[in-house]
Parts: sequence; structure tokens; C-alpha cells
Amino acid sequence: MITAPAMTFREWTGPLTADLVLEPAKFGLGQVPSHLVPDATAKAICGFCSTGCGLKIHLKDGEAINLTPDPDYPVNFGSACPKGWEALSVLDAPDRATMPLLHGKPVDWDTALRFFCDNMRRILDQHGPGAAAFLSTGQIMFEEMALLGALAKFGMGMLHGDGNTRQCMATAVAAYKESFGFDAPPFTYADFEESDVLVFIGANPCIAHPIMWQRVLRNKRSPEIIVIDPRTTETSMAATRHYAIKPKSDLALLYGLAHLIIRDGGLDPAFIEAHTNGFEEFAAFAAGFAPERVSAETGISIERLIFLSKTIISGKPRVSFWWTMGINQGHQATRTAQAIINLALMTGNIGKPGTGANSITGQCNAMGSRLFSNTTNLLGGHDFRDAMHREKIAHATGIPVERIPGQPSLAYDQIIQAADEGTVKAIWFVATNPSHSWVDQNEMNRILDKLDFLVVQDMYCSTETAKRAHLVLPAAGWGEKEGCFINSERRIGHSPKVRRAPGQALADFHIFRLIAQYWGCGELLREWSSPEAIFRILQRCSENQPCDITGIHGYEMVRQSGGVQWPLTADQASTFQASSWKERRLFEDGRFFTSDQRAKFVFEAPEAPPEQCSAEYPFILMTGRGTSAQWHTETRTGKSAILEKMTPAELMLDLHPADAVTLGVRDGGKVRVVTKRGELTTKVRLTSCVKPGEVYLPMHDPRVNQLTHASFDPHSRQPSYKHSAVRIESTH
Ligand code: SF4
Repeated sequence: MITAPAMTFREWTGPLTADLVLEPAKFGLGQVPSHLVPDATAKAICGFCSTGCGLKIHLKDGEAINLTPDPDYPVNFGSACPKGWEALSVLDAPDRATMPLLHGKPVDWDTALRFFCDNMRRILDQHGPGAAAFLSTGQIMFEEMALLGALAKFGMGMLHGDGNTRQCMATAVAAYKESFGFDAPPFTYADFEESDVLVFIGANPCIAHPIMWQRVLRNKRSPEIIVIDPRTTETSMAATRHYAIKPKSDLALLYGLAHLIIRDGGLDPAFIEAHTNGFEEFAAFAAGFAPERVSAETGISIERLIFLSKTIISGKPRVSFWWTMGINQGHQATRTAQAIINLALMTGNIGKPGTGANSITGQCNAMGSRLFSNTTNLLGGHDFRDAMHREKIAHATGIPVERIPGQPSLAYDQIIQAADEGTVKAIWFVATNPSHSWVDQNEMNRILDKLDFLVVQDMYCSTETAKRAHLVLPAAGWGEKEGCFINSERRIGHSPKVRRAPGQALADFHIFRLIAQYWGCGELLREWSSPEAIFRILQRCSENQPCDITGIHGYEMVRQSGGVQWPLTADQASTFQASSWKERRLFEDGRFFTSDQRAKFVFEAPEAPPEQCSAEYPFILMTGRGTSAQWHTETRTGKSAILEKMTPAELMLDLHPADAVTLGVRDGGKVRVVTKRGELTTKVRLTSCVKPGEVYLPMHDPRVNQLTHASFDPHSRQPSYKHSAVRIESTH
């Protein structure tokens, strides 16, 4: 049977999300075990996505027994998506790492820590500070990230460290830094509710950020909701208009819109004149993107292009632009993000309610990683190469300045390349699973298997990466340790410890502290003695930066106030009414973080994606989110029986019915998907959600990244997951 689009309980998660908000018990969520009666609650922030929902954890005798969404938290107002509801149950999985594992065999912590330090020291001593690296995550608390960065770089003398945020947010970082002068997402979630026109580009919040979508649904201004996406997604079905562009023609489309806005008088000349640089050069460049050219390159008719530009300049005052992975994961991702920023700047849609060029973050603490992981940026958004910045951080942290390296780390892909070349010999992975999630997976695994020393520190011992490790260090998970996350709207939220980690698993914080002791740099990090003590150090690091948080009076203030958005300087905290810093957006005064306080128009000619279709590989494969019940490599969400019921039972390739006829494939039949790098066999779902010549696979299946092509944006070094050339073969 052919359906267009195919929608079943398992596959159609937009309405399901709405139902969950209204009737969670219908799906078995939020039920308290009958033999337990909660006697207290603790407030926490969800540890999955960057929405940063507030959760109330119900306690019995000091241990968590259940949770419900927090009706008072200014992010989610009592709603949660399936992942949040199930945040506790995934902690009880049988494959939790409960003991250190050395070559797969359980050992005590003393043996594990000695082995770790002996091997890391041997490699660093023999081959220099670039020979060992850490690759961490946007999933742990930012105090832990900062401690890891300080321990590895200042204590152990490593030069290189990066995080899996390179796979999701590096593009937004690079784009904002160049255009605004600092990595500064300008919005607050109230902007979803206060916009007249919302333009989602490469974003599917219905399933990827369901609670943000709930905020859109609270908008009372009857907004126009525009989705620009090659696929017919859940969000595009709920939108007022969908622009199904050709894959990776987004940059041409955005420049074409700029052309039309200039042509049709949609500019805000006063804003451009007062607050930006480079517009004239950009206008001359955009003149080359006439509608005829853009229509041919994007597949969107001239009439629809003009309608879209007129919607943006319609005279309705508030237009907001939102993007996620469809933009960030591309071969020209940074310039594409900046093309969105250009549209907001030229129409004056920034710094006002319901406006903005707004990157939605991915992981729960991606923003924390961007500011405080001490990887490519020195703590607090500083620059390793700047001697004054190093002096400032030395003063703020008490670390001798000569221990702070004068160069930033290699990026993630460059670390992996160096491992292939043999200059990086040891990698320490923390709370991430690249054997599943990195592009061109077979190549990644070949390189990992060459390492002299591979360490994985994780909650689960069963991840694809942990199985390859020489040493596994068992870590506590969300709810089993304390610290803070920073969400997409720059809101710092606190999450407490509400249960004990299983076996001998320890909080990442404690593992780092133990390593410092065994390494012999415990005294250097003496002040980093608790998560809140680290929070205090990081406040000092943030002083006078755009992300200044010196006005926060510790964890208690974060807990009591429903989170605090950065910045909150000491001056602001003493002069603002508390109610005035509950919801804040940046750039209300039109002053940006560049040296002359002007935002910059940045642009570059579009180029064809690196891997083109051919007679041998005639289809374009795009990958991305499956359902709202799944999270990345499903290390956690795959452990919930309830979430399992909400996800497809097996991998399904989305294929257009017209292509199925040509290939002789039926709905539910099996095909082989083949690239130059690898192949897999999967069932087929026939659907007009994809166009002829394009196919889609969810990223959660561990085999999918055998297919993806390893290309990287040259500015952000973020991999592209959205344009691989594949062949489809019927298995009959
Ligand atoms: S939307 Fe994100 S933060 Fe909110 S409950 Fe779901 S996974 Fe957690």
C-alpha cells in the first residue's frame, strides 16, 4: 500500500507530542508506583535536549521515584516531551557501567586510575603535548566540562580537546562570532509567542524540540509559519507554508530572498546605517541572485519566492528566523547561518520582541560547552592566543599563566585525522559515542582501532565506542550528580543529585578530581573542590565578557529564580528588578559585541556539495531525527520500554513512490542502500515526504553513518550529514 505521507502511531509524532502534553497518563507516563507515596520534590533541568525543561522529581526517603514537568518553570510551563518523562527510567538499564573495565575485565578504581595516568603520561612524555586528546560532550554539567578542560590542559599538559558539540553547534558559534563579535544567540523563548512571521530553516521542532513547538502554539498573533526544508516534515505539515527546496540549495535561496527584499523596498535603512557594516558590498553581491537563477537552483517557482520575500517584508512588524541542524550540518554551513543573520539585520528584525536570527541548540548543555569547556575557546569565551586573556584566566582560576597553552585545540575532525596520521596516539572520550555518531563510520572505527590508548568514560559500558576501548571509566548520569546546564535561550539551570549511581560509578566531577590526585596536580586544582566552587571560578572567568554571570549569587539564586539567562552582571543584578531579568533578549540597544559595536554582513558564493550524484549513485541521502522519543545514538532512550513503543520497530528508508516504481520496490519491502563507503539493508517506507531522487534515514540506527560522506564546513569544521550520494538496490 502506498501512503502519502505514511502516518501511524509510531511514525507520526507531532500530534502524539500534543497528546502527551495533555494526557501523559494515556501513554503510561508520569505514574507513581502504587506502593510509593512521594514525600518531597526536587527541581531539576532535563538532561536531554537544549530546550532545558524544568522537571519536578518526586522523592521517597531521599531517592527519586518519579517525575513530572514543572508547571512553574518559565521554559516549559508544565509540559515535557517523551524523553523528559522517561529521564529516570533509563538510569536503571542493565548495561550501566558499574565498575571500571580494563580490556573488558572489571578492575578496581585504583588499578584503573593508575593505568590511565601511566599510559597518558607515557604518551605525552614520549611524543609531546599534542599526542593525547580528550573529546567530550554537551551532555554533562558545565562545571564538569570546565574541570575536564582545566585538568587536561592546565594539569596534564594536553594541547587538544574538543566535544561532540562540534557535530551540532560549531556552525552557530562560528557564524555568531564573526557576525556579532561573540557566540551570542540573541533570543528568548517568548519570541516564539511574540512573532508575526516565524521562518524555520532546516529545523523540525515538532519532533526535535517539541516543547519549543508548544511555545509556538501559544502564539496568539495568528502568525505565518514558514518551513524551508527539502523534506515534508512534521513541522512543515503544521506550518502555513512549506518551501521544499532542493537539498543544500539553502544558501542560494537566502541570497535570493535578500535580493528580493532589496529590490522590493523591504530594508530597514535606519538600522543598517546605525548598527551594521558591510551592507553595500552585500547588496552588490546579492544583485547576482535574481529570482530566475534562484528558482532554477532551489526548485522553488519565482512566484513563490516573491510571495516568501513579501511575507517577510509584509509590513507586519515582527519576523523571527530559526535554524538547527539542516543549516549547521552543511558544507557551507557558517555562510548559510550568516545568510540568515543577514536577513534579520537588513530588515531590522533583531533586538525586539518576536524577532531574531536564532540558532536552536542541540544538547542540554551545548551552550555550556561553548562557553566553558576550555576546548577551542579558553574558559568564558576567551582566546588561547591572546596573552591578556591568558593572564585574566590565570588570575581568575589561580592557575599559573605558563600552564595555559598559547594556541587553541585542533577541531574534532582534525584530531581524528591526526590520530590516523599517528601524531595523536591517545583519545579520552567522555559521554559521547562517535563509533555510532561520527560521519563515515567505518573510517572512524578504523582510526579508533589504531590508537595506542582509547579511554571511554560513560554511563553505559555497551556503547559502540566503549566496546572498542582499552579502558572504560563508569560514570554517573543525569540525576546522579549536581551541576548546571545552559539552554538554547542562554538560561542557566541547576540540576541536583536525586539518586545514587549504580555500583562503583562516579560523577564525572569525582572522576576528574581523582585523576588530578593520581596525576599529581590535585593541589593545582584545589579550589575546584565542588560543582558550586567551580561555578564561582567560572563566574570570575566570565567577568566583563558578553556572557558575564558575576551577578548570580550562587546555586540558590539559580534554583529560586527559574534559571538565569546570561548575561547577568553584578551591576545588572543590583539595579534590575528580579522580574525584569526573567526573559531577556540581546541587542535591544542595537550594540553588538564587535570592536565598533556593529554587526557584520558576511557572505560567500554558493558551491556545489562535495559529493554529487552520479549514474552509479543517483540518490541524495539526508539523515536526521527519527521521532521525539529518540535521542541521538539511543544510548539512553533505547533503554526505556515506553520510548521503545513510540519508535519504529526497525529502520525505514523514506523513498518516493515514483522512485519505488522505477526500482521495483514495494512499501515495506527491503532494499540495499549503497555508498562508496559502506552499505546497509533496510525496509522501505513509501512516502511523498521526500521528493523523487531524495531519500531519508533517521540517524539513530547504528549503521546509518556507514553511509554518510565526511565533508566539513571550512569555518566551523562541523560535519555535513545532509548530502551523501547513494544507490538503492532492491533485494528481490
Ligand atoms: S523538550 Fe528537551 S528538555 Fe524538554 S523534556 Fe524533551 S528532551 Fe527534555
